[in-house]
Amino acid sequence: RADLAMYQAKAAGRDTLRFYDPQMQAVVSARAAMELDMRAGLALDQFELYYQPQMEHGRITGAEALLRWRHPHNGFISPARFISLAEESGLILPLGEWVLKAACERLALWADQPGLAPLDLAVNVSPRQFHQGGFVPQVLAALAGSGADGHRLKLELTEGLLLQDVEDTIEKMGQLRGYGVGFSLDDFGTGYSSLAYLKRLPLDQLKIDQSFVRDVLTDPNDAAIARTVVGLATSLGLRVIAEGVETEAQREFLARNHCHAWQGYLSSPPVPAAEFEALVLQTNGPLRPRAA
Ligand code: C2E
Ligand code: MG
Ligand code: MG
Ligand code: MG
Repeated sequence: RADLAMYQAKAAGRDTLRFYDPQMQAVVSARAAMELDMRAGLALDQFELYYQPQMEHGRITGAEALLRWRHPHNGFISPARFISLAEESGLILPLGEWVLKAACERLALWADQPGLAPLDLAVNVSPRQFHQGGFVPQVLAALAGSGADGHRLKLELTEGLLLQDVEDTIEKMGQLRGYGVGFSLDDFGTGYSSLAYLKRLPLDQLKIDQSFVRDVLTDPNDAAIARTVVGLATSLGLRVIAEGVETEAQREFLARNHCHAWQGYLSSPPVPAAEFEALVLQTNGPLRPRAA
């Protein structure tokens, strides 16, 4: 696995107690080392949230918060390389809690700046984090502790998460919806959720996965899938947003097919908070009157 390679190399060279399989031992050591590093990183404030604009009709309506890890020796590590290990080791629990707090604090800051508000903030939630006993109180504590408005918080869930324990999922979503929290289904179309589940879950929005957006202009199947997801969302009374939009032509295709909300490198990659805020002022205009 690519995400463990650097640790594996380190561990393999070390004079440690070995299992019968040296390669297996290296993998185990690598995972343990990375986990330790993540724990330390959390304590040492090495994690940071970046923000990617979510666009609609030329305006920035909000952002998706994306986690970044500034490792002191290995540089910038992308979540694709550490989220799954954090999930397996359980470290996603304190890490996810940190993300929720940081996101809500950011939302509260935005609410106090007339040039920025109103902005929504989407936060990714992984399965283990969501299904832990204390998830709902954790979100409520993050909102209450920061003073952020739950109506501005959107949680991005994946299909796998929704299917793990449907009753628990519906109950938790319902509780949080009571505080205004919204729910998006991330990476839609890449998982296994059936339409029957989709109907039962109290979602607000589907996210068209970037794998369908990438070739939407050249691959008729991807174009058909994108159109179908928009139609499905509309029929179910859900909003729809496309992710991974990199070109004006892709954005136009989506808009032509009634998908007006989008995010992607075409507007901006995920950037630090200050950069995102500058982008909002520049895009939405600094003197815009505060809307409800
Ligand atoms: P995701 O939630 O589907 O996020 C979208 C990913 O696509 C992000 O990768 C983003 O940087 C990338 N992206 C955005 N626009 C474009 C584009 O135009 N083209 C391309 N090729 N990519 C684009 P990133 O930041 O590396 O995050 C990867 C995944 O890690 C996320 O996928 C999400 O599943 C997970 N993740 C990130 N932050 C968190 C977090 O705080 N908590 C949890 N549980 N998972 C997170
Ligand atoms: Mg997401
Ligand atoms: Mg996604
Ligand atoms: Mg993804």
